This record gives sequence, C-alpha cells and structure tokens, in this order.
Amino acid sequence: MREVSCQEISDCVGKLAIQACCVQTDDIKHAFRKARSTEVSILGQNILDTLIENGKIAESNMMPICQDTGMLVVFVEVGQEVHIIGGYLEDAINDGVKKGYTEGYLRKSVVEEPLFERKNTTNNAPAVIHTRIVRGDKIRIQVAPKGFGSENKSVLKMLVPADGIEGVKKVFLEAVKLAGPNACPPMVIGVGIGGTMEKAALLAKIAAVRETDSKNPDSRYAKLEDELLELANATGVGPQGLGGVTTAFKVNVEWYPTHIAGLPVAININCHAARHCDAEL
Ligand code: SF4
Repeated sequence: MREVSCQEISDCVGKLAIQACCVQTDDIKHAFRKARSTEVSILGQNILDTLIENGKIAESNMMPICQDTGMLVVFVEVGQEVHIIGGYLEDAINDGVKKGYTEGYLRKSVVEEPLFERKNTTNNAPAVIHTRIVRGDKIRIQVAPKGFGSENKSVLKMLVPADGIEGVKKVFLEAVKLAGPNACPPMVIGVGIGGTMEKAALLAKIAAVRETDSKNPDSRYAKLEDELLELANATGVGPQGLGGVTTAFKVNVEWYPTHIAGLPVAININCHAARHCDAEL
C-alpha cells in the first residue's frame, strides 16, 4: 500500500489555494479570448479587456484575481490503495487552507458559525471538503475558491418528471436572470440534474468548476449545454451586467440516475474568476 503523508497533502492544498486565487487557468484565458472576439457591445469589449488585463497583472505579481478569495471548496479523490499517514485527512486539508491563505495574503472570508455571532475564523478554514474513494494508489486534489457574489445566486429546484427539458430550461433561465450583474458575469454555470436534493447540488458544483473547454460525454447533455449557453447569452446581461452577448462563458451539465417520481435540478453559478486548479500526489 502506497503511503502519502498529511504534510504532503497540507503543503499541496496551501500551494493550490494560492495558485487558484492568483493564476487564471488556460481554459479561462481561452474563454476570455473567445468572448473578446465575439462580444458585440463596445462597453462589453472594454470590460473584457479590463478583466483580461486584470488577470495578467494578478499572475505576474502573484496577487489575487479578485479581492474575494472565497471559501475554499476541495474535492479529494483518494485511491483505495493509499494509506494516509501522520494525521487526519481533513485536518491536513484545513492546515493547508490556513497556510495558503496566510502566506498568500488572501482575504479571510469564513465565519465560524453562520447565524448568530458570525465571527471570522481569521484563517479561512474550514474548507468545504468532498471526498471520494476511487480506484488506484494516488490522491487527486482539486481546489475551487468560491466567491459568494455568484454562490449566493445558486438555485435548487425539485422538479417532477413531467416538467422535462423545458422545466430545466425555465429554472436555468430564471437563475441566470436573477443572478444578473451580482454574479460578476461572464459566468461559468454548473447544472446538476438527477440524484437526490443534495446530489443535484453537488453535481452542479462539480459542473461549475469543470473546464470551460470540456463537454459532457453524453451527446444529448452536450447539446443541452450548448442550448443553455445560448439561452444565457440571449438575456443581454453581458460582461459585468452592463449589456452584451457574453453573459456566460460556458454551461456545464452533470447528471446522475434519479427516482421515478423526481427530476432534481440545481444551478451553481461561478463568476468570471471561475478559479480552480488541481494536483496529484
Ligand atoms: S463573484 Fe467572483 S468576481 Fe465577483 S466579487 Fe466574488 S469572487 Fe470576485
């Protein structure tokens, strides 16, 4: 059995947090270039230019792309042939969050309790951690710092099967229109369809942090991704909500089997920063 230490995991999470907050991934850079070539609004073009410049400055100075460096969502795939040594996995991840957000001078945005005192934890821990046991002897860690301008605009709806594709499109469009400028468009929109209530929400999150140059492997869902993108961009919300044809860079759809009586749909909205990066140990 292969051994991976908590120290390695912690160091990895810390580095990924800084990288994700300061360096746009290639898919997002490509999405910006593509949007700049198709945007028709002059104001929209100017905003895209400014955001592209912002990304370049952030990367060259290792400064955050946005002041809201988010709550860190961490997806961990642990190979079942791996033995984690030297501590507890979730402690290691949260130690990495504390280190990364402190050493990277990233804004600490997490409160330790959500309703009454809302006291800042001062180190951005804890992360929201999703762990899966998978085949193999590696650990894959993906981080996504999630700003709440966009997160707050997410939606979950328990449709019934009779609502069908049109019902999904209606929920999607209402969410995009409601998000408007507050989600800092151009957005990357994750749609989760199926499973149960919480599964649909998780699928939407996975979709929201999936690469913008990817497609759902099922051609029916890939077509739905294109149709939803067209709907989003026809709203006219545009870059930063000031009008234009680039309301979203991409819509990603993930699905899962569901119950005969249900059609859960979740929409998770990511902003133009759409930060994500990953590593394998
Ligand atoms: S939604 Fe995104 S771009 Fe807007 S403030 Fe939050 S992190 Fe920044």
